[in-house]
Amino acid sequence: MSSKSRVLDLTCELTARPSVTPDDAGCQRLICERLLPLGFSVEWFLCGEVSNVLITHGQGSPSLWFLGHTDVVPSGPEDMWTFLPFHPGEKEGELYGRGVADMKGAVAAMVVALETFVTQQPEHSGQIGLLLTSDEEGDAVDGIVRVAEELQRRGHRPDYCLVGEPSSQEQLGDTVRVGRRGSIHARLQVNGIQGHTAFPQNLDNPVHRMAPFLEELVGVEWDEGDDEFPASHCQIASIKGGTGARNVTPANVELLVNFRNGPESPADGIKTQFEFLLAEHDITDYDLDWMVMGDPFRSQPGKLREAVVGAIEELLNRSPELNTGGGTSDGRFISPAGADVVELGPVSASIHKIDEHVRMDDVAALAAMYQRILELMLL
Ligand SMILES: [Zn+2]
Repeated sequence: MSSKSRVLDLTCELTARPSVTPDDAGCQRLICERLLPLGFSVEWFLCGEVSNVLITHGQGSPSLWFLGHTDVVPSGPEDMWTFLPFHPGEKEGELYGRGVADMKGAVAAMVVALETFVTQQPEHSGQIGLLLTSDEEGDAVDGIVRVAEELQRRGHRPDYCLVGEPSSQEQLGDTVRVGRRGSIHARLQVNGIQGHTAFPQNLDNPVHRMAPFLEELVGVEWDEGDDEFPASHCQIASIKGGTGARNVTPANVELLVNFRNGPESPADGIKTQFEFLLAEHDITDYDLDWMVMGDPFRSQPGKLREAVVGAIEELLNRSPELNTGGGTSDGRFISPAGADVVELGPVSASIHKIDEHVRMDDVAALAAMYQRILELMLL
């Protein structure tokens, strides 16, 4: 069977399993059953409802692991899909189905690349592997973060990690992620004294206290960014306050803010400046909670970047843009241990949407590029 039909068949087999987070729906077992006979070792990390698995071949350095997820987001109304979301169908060179682009096509490409590489190079140097979770699209509390904790306890990590999240924008390989920004959530509740709008002397309006603070907060220039990282920024996600009555001022107002930060603005610095701004605006009666969802990370210029760019140039005749755009990825959990993390995957335009689709030629090309990257890194 040709490599293209192998990777497309596997993409369809995985897509037919309705693995909505955190349910893996047998995807990982299917992959293990393919790789075990080729001499791969399998280690399961089961956490609550989440299934994580590490599949490796060979030992020592250099080690290159692929990183992916088998879970998908819900389909939304099935009757709005051209093909049923978990019954993949083809139209005009595109494969449709929930998860084909994010990221079962890439996972299938990784599996086929590993199979081909190991068949051709059974005595390769170093270690190759595939780390999968069924908790990337959800809270991601029992997914790769838990595997990373366990590996860190053992002092074990890959030298290099290639993530298959859909990094491409318009054409396959036009963009490679060489890092990701961090994400920080703040919940601020400013407290005041509720009262009658006609008697301002008897109340303390928390909205009035917050307004000038908010204006200054959204105008802060946290840093300028650099060639790979856009400037850090914050967005207000929600403001809530008031009883619903027109003549009553609120007792408190709640603000949700999300920061997307680069390496020049670590979480501690943002927290300190945020609290400094509160003090500057005489806001002293407040509750404040922080959640750091991930710290920024950046891959080093060197072997993995060169292999990824080299494979794209060689097989697609294209020079990718290297950047750190998009949201967070599970790379944030692997990078802190010292692994070099780079991301190359299919076009992201339809992910999470009704009629998610991926070019069938792209999935096949992705498998060829992943295989070439293995060759460039290990041979
Ligand atoms: Zn994804």
